[in-house]
Amino acid sequence: MERYGFLGLGIMGTAMARNLLKAGYPVTIWNRSKDKCAELAGMGAEVAGSPSQVTASCGITFAMLADPAAAHAVCFGPQGALEGIGEGRGYVDMSTVDAATSREIAQAVTGKGGRYLEAPVSGSKKPAEDGTLIFLTGGDRSLFDQALPLLQKMGKKHLFLGDAGRGAQMKLIVNMVMGVMMNTLCEGLALAGKAGLAAEDLLDVLDSGALANPMFKLKGSQITQSSYPPAFPLKHMQKDMRLAVALGDELDQPLHAAAAANENFKKAKALGFSDEDFCAVFKAITA
Ligand code: NAP
Repeated sequence: MERYGFLGLGIMGTAMARNLLKAGYPVTIWNRSKDKCAELAGMGAEVAGSPSQVTASCGITFAMLADPAAAHAVCFGPQGALEGIGEGRGYVDMSTVDAATSREIAQAVTGKGGRYLEAPVSGSKKPAEDGTLIFLTGGDRSLFDQALPLLQKMGKKHLFLGDAGRGAQMKLIVNMVMGVMMNTLCEGLALAGKAGLAAEDLLDVLDSGALANPMFKLKGSQITQSSYPPAFPLKHMQKDMRLAVALGDELDQPLHAAAAANENFKKAKALGFSDEDFCAVFKAITA
C-alpha cells in the first residue's frame, strides 16, 4: 500500500494524522520538535528525520503548519519537502496561509513535476479529533480526487474552489468573520459586566434567538469560567486577521470591523496571551 506523509504535529496535525492512522493508512510523520511524534509513533507511524525524507518516500504528503513562515521553511528549507518532490508526487498543504505563499509553493512543487493542493480547514481541535473538519481546497484537481478518501477521514465537507489561492482566500475570509464575532461577543460580555448584568444571562439571551451559534455558546461559557486552554491559539487567529486585512488592502475593500478586531488580538499578544485560546482576547478587551 502506498505510504502517506504528514508534516506538522501541532494541535490540529496530531488529531488529523491520528485519524489517518486509525483508518489504517500507513503514515510517515515528521515534526520540528521530535517529542510530538511519540504518540503517533506508538500507533504505528514511521518517524522520518526530515521533510524531504517524507516527501521522497510517500505518494501524497500532507502538511499542517503554523503560518506562512512555517509553511515556507518546511517546503523550501534545507532537507525541506521540495527536495523530495518528484514526478507525480502530491503535496497537500492544509496550513492557513495567504494566497501568495500558497501559489509560491504550488509553483515550486509543480516545477519539480509534483502536484499541489492547498487544503486549509475550517473547524478547530474537536472537529479535527472527530474527523468533521471543512476543507477549503484549491490547486490540482487530480490530487484532490486522489486525496479525497483521506480527506474524508479528516473532514465532513470538501470544497474544491479552483486554482491555488482560492482556498487560502476563502479560509481567511471565514476566519475574519469568526475573529470579528469573537470580538463583539467579548465586548458584549465586557459591557454587560460594567452594566451589572450577568454574563450567563447575556449568553442565554444570545442563545435563544437568531444570534445563536455554537461558537458563542462554547467560548462564551469558557470566558465566564476564565478558562482559556488553546483549541485555536490566539497567535494564529491574529495571523489570520492580519492576512485578511492585507487581502482587503490588496483588493481595496474597506474592513473596518476586521481591522479593529485585529488591534484587540495584537493587544492580547502583547499582554502575553499568544498561546492561550483566541477567546482570551476577552482579557485584552477588559484590561
Ligand atoms: P500549533 O499547535 O501551533 O502547531 C503548529 C505546527 O507548526 C507545529 O507542528 C510546529 O512545530 C510547526 N511549526 C511552526 N513553526 C515552524 C517552523 N518554522 N518550521 C517547522 N515547523 C514549524 O497550531 P495548530 O493549531 O495545529 O494550527 C496549524 C495550522 O492550522 C495553522 O495555520 C492554523 O492557523 C490552522 N488552523 C488551526 C485551527 C485550530 O483551531 N487550532 C483551526 C483551523 C486552522 P513545533 O511542534 O516544533 O512547534
